[in-house]
Amino acid sequence: MFFTGLVALDYDNTPLATLFASAVPHQIYQPTIPSADQKVVCIVFDDGWKSQLDAVSILESFGYKATFAIVTGYTNYPDYMDWREIRSLASKGMDIASHTDTHADLNNVNSDALFGELSKSQAVLRSRGYPANVLVYPYGDSANNKTVQDAVSQFYLVARGTVEGKCNISGCNRYNLHSYDVYHDVSLEDYAAYLEGTGGENITILYYHKIGPQSEDTAVSREVFQAQVQYLHDNGYSVRTLSQLFLKDAPTH
Ligand SMILES: [Zn+2]
Repeated sequence: MFFTGLVALDYDNTPLATLFASAVPHQIYQPTIPSADQKVVCIVFDDGWKSQLDAVSILESFGYKATFAIVTGYTNYPDYMDWREIRSLASKGMDIASHTDTHADLNNVNSDALFGELSKSQAVLRSRGYPANVLVYPYGDSANNKTVQDAVSQFYLVARGTVEGKCNISGCNRYNLHSYDVYHDVSLEDYAAYLEGTGGENITILYYHKIGPQSEDTAVSREVFQAQVQYLHDNGYSVRTLSQLFLKDAPTH
């Protein structure tokens, strides 16, 4: 490890942690159990697509915060948010999570690569001031792999997979949170069906990819997203980030 100025660099010149690392809040796993009359939903955006910025003003107009899962190695690519844009999300109270360093399929990497994907992404996010205790699995299937879960548990406090279903906040496996994908072909009726059964300890995690032309498989248009968020508002759902629901800031010693 080398120190250049204020940033500790790894041998490949990637920042590890700044000397301001103590400013990164220390967090512990401590779920906030919603009361029986609350209906809590989490909105998660996968991959850090730049187009997701189009969703932010809609979220803000309802006072909602979402979780954005960033692939730390993608932040220089044109279709993905750069660090300045990620900073602007965080300044609006959005939650910044890890989606690994290169979006590797964690089911199909050796153990060095597995640990590298998990640790590097976290170190890069922490070097920029984000607590980075939430992971979103790339290709959700690896969330079902016990070896992968064990590795994730050495770095992260909670992780979201893609097994479809509700998440019981006090009974779920915190390293395989269940969720629902919201793609172009999800009608408002489908969306409402995803939400059915939300209440008290049973929360619903919805995840999105691009905001863009509804003709694109993984995209939801701005208008459709607006209608979905309006539905949450009109039907009494509360929206929380994954960090707000599962983590607490702990005093540092
Ligand atoms: Zn992804």
